[in-house]
Amino acid sequence: MKENKYRYDFRSDTVTLPTQEMLEEIVKAKLGDDVYGDDETVNQLEAMTADMMGKEASLFVPSGTMGNLIAVLAHTTPGQEIILEESSHIYLYEVGGIARLAGVQARTLKGIDGMPTVEAIKGAIRQENIHFPETGLICLENTHNMSGGMVLPLEEIKKVSELAKEKKIPLHIDGARIFNAANYLKINVKEIVQYTDSIMFCLSKGLSAPIGSMLVGSQEFIRKARKIRKMLGGGMRQVGIIAAAGIIALKDHNQWINKDHENAKLLAEGLNHLEGVSVDLSKLHTNIINVDFYETGLNIQELVAKMTEKGLLVNPRNERLIRFVTHRGVGKEDVIAAIGIVKEILALG
Ligand SMILES: *Cc1c(COP(=O)(O)O)cnc(C)c1O
Repeated sequence: MKENKYRYDFRSDTVTLPTQEMLEEIVKAKLGDDVYGDDETVNQLEAMTADMMGKEASLFVPSGTMGNLIAVLAHTTPGQEIILEESSHIYLYEVGGIARLAGVQARTLKGIDGMPTVEAIKGAIRQENIHFPETGLICLENTHNMSGGMVLPLEEIKKVSELAKEKKIPLHIDGARIFNAANYLKINVKEIVQYTDSIMFCLSKGLSAPIGSMLVGSQEFIRKARKIRKMLGGGMRQVGIIAAAGIIALKDHNQWINKDHENAKLLAEGLNHLEGVSVDLSKLHTNIINVDFYETGLNIQELVAKMTEKGLLVNPRNERLIRFVTHRGVGKEDVIAAIGIVKEILALG
């Protein structure tokens, strides 16, 4: 595997490269045409995923974005309304696919650290009225990306799930980083997933696989989802080539996620010591760190450019925050080096 151009890449956990074992499994993978259901490796990954999640079935999809879109298409009909947290990935970062392709409108709610209250959700569910669209779906995001990888409280998810059942509205979780949430809570991922009708999670982030996400739910839901995936052009052929890496990702991820969370703490504490830089450590749950540079008085875009110049890659969040993400590709030494680079830049002003 060729090395990345930049030395310290904290932009996202999507930059992780496959492990040696993944590459070896890719070469050995038993393949077939997955549109005909003939790819043994994909079938194994889908069965393994359903089992891990405590659900009936699962579907391998090319990306998290497609997984979420398929979920919305499968759960809703055009003209319905779906409830989303206002800074959710589906609402902000998925190119408006739910509007253009699923034909639903978004009802957004302000969350507390990414979690809308059950009262707010209850208030947003449409009553029967000749003027109103129907509420077709409730979506939550766990971990919550924009709030800095925060984990939704399990009790709150449970309350929303009870409400959704009572109102007969399906509940979908965008769980791109659901294994980070389970790791933080020190529980089995099933304990979170049990409250949902469907969940999407990414193999290609902290789990380190090169490509792919999983959509999980009931047999009936996955049957519909499989057909919608075909419609979107996501039915792939000898895709066991990449599913093979996904199987390793599911087996081995905990060791990496533990380290990612430790490194995130180390990085946050180190940056917190620098003049004008602050991280709210009480809100650091997983591997995403929103670092506040406001008090340095420096322009965020210029700061990011200076970091990039020194080989430290990060993403600006807004005019005061820069996002750092830890992952398998950055070790403890890289975290220490990153803190050093930021310190050096701030010293020069
Ligand atoms: C990354 C991400 C997605 C989308 O995954 P892609 O594979 O990049 O399409 C969806 N939701 C959240 C919260 C994410 O962080």
